[in-house]
Amino acid sequence: QEFRETLEINPLSAADLVEPHRICVCVRKRPLNKQEIAKKEIDVVSVTGGGELLVHEPKQKVDLTKYLDNQLFRFDYSFDETSTNDLVYRFTAKPLVQSIFEGGMATCFAYGQTGSGKTHTMGGDFHGRQQNTNSGIYALAAKDVFTHQSHRRYAHLDVSVYVSFFEIYNGKVFDLLNKKSKLRVLEDDRQQVQVVGLKEVCVENAEDVVRIVQAGSACRTSSQTLANANSSRSHAILQIVLRCNDRASTLHGKFSLVDLAGNERGTNVGNDRNTLVETCEINRSLLALKECIRSLGMNSEHIPFRMSTLTKVLRDSFIGENSKTCMIAMVAPGMASCEYTMNTLRYADSVYDAVTQVAELEEKVYGELKVVFTKLSSFKKFQAIF
Ligand code: ADP
Ligand code: MG
Repeated sequence: QEFRETLEINPLSAADLVEPHRICVCVRKRPLNKQEIAKKEIDVVSVTGGGELLVHEPKQKVDLTKYLDNQLFRFDYSFDETSTNDLVYRFTAKPLVQSIFEGGMATCFAYGQTGSGKTHTMGGDFHGRQQNTNSGIYALAAKDVFTHQSHRRYAHLDVSVYVSFFEIYNGKVFDLLNKKSKLRVLEDDRQQVQVVGLKEVCVENAEDVVRIVQAGSACRTSSQTLANANSSRSHAILQIVLRCNDRASTLHGKFSLVDLAGNERGTNVGNDRNTLVETCEINRSLLALKECIRSLGMNSEHIPFRMSTLTKVLRDSFIGENSKTCMIAMVAPGMASCEYTMNTLRYADSVYDAVTQVAELEEKVYGELKVVFTKLSSFKKFQAIF
């Protein structure tokens, strides 16, 4: 019965159902694009199955084809260049939708260098006539949120769905649903963090969410030159919020979907002061994010969320039993991006490492306890006989 119910909520085949991990770390490789093919770029990333992928890193820059050093990485999932947004969604963000209905805080991050596919994965392709042909995680998650809301399992929950969409640039928050107005982030004495005046729009269906994302994204890019900010230098955060329809509209659950700023270092993006400040701020927030997810993964008491504005506004996501996170690290396949690809994979690996260490430790402790209990029970049998 339970299984049938789950199937109704998740209209997928049984084999597709995934138990949500507390933290899921995976990689998505995009295909070589037209320009890369025209330049005869070599594809240096191979997804080999079982969550593993290999990077054929050039050892020497003299003869790139001869000296390749294979680097192996392993994550919860590795998606190859043929995977669709839909498939990536099913294994990453989809299992988290249910958890926000159960009162949880869920977060999904798209991480990687500029041009690696973060916006493609989160937002899909909104351009021209292709609209709606390739939905991204924003739209797919929104659709599932409404499927859950109308499901009888959650009929007792009287919740409404709200959406907010904002950007963090240089450590400052800008509301994408309110003409990019600058907002303040405040922390009260109970350590609750608030983005003061952040606009929340009540939505009735997934199409509403898509429209809001489109309007917000347009607002994000149109004022780029004004604010001297390229959209790849800022983090965009879409939050789907469930609020109880009681008088105080108390928070029930929240899903934050984050299209992170490009993780490239400042080497080839210019050296003027603004760019340096931007780069410092991006590095700081990405480092803070890594530390927070690692702390969450290691069940640490102390979560260093104050390290950056990004982690401050996502504080709820890192604290409490009900927090679930997934990180999708995006990589470009070309030899020219190899250094960035390695940086991205090392970052994701260090997050994955923290999570797996804890799992291994738990297994070890469990194994030892089992031995102790087996010994104890055979001792009791021994006593019983004599
Ligand atoms: P980012 O947001 O990381 O800077 P984008 O999502 O804008 O990168 O991707 C850069 C370009 O590559 C876009 O034109 C996008 O459509 C294309 N692209 C990215 N990922 C894929 C993919 N998996 N399949 C096909 N095209 C992709
Ligand atoms: Mg982008």
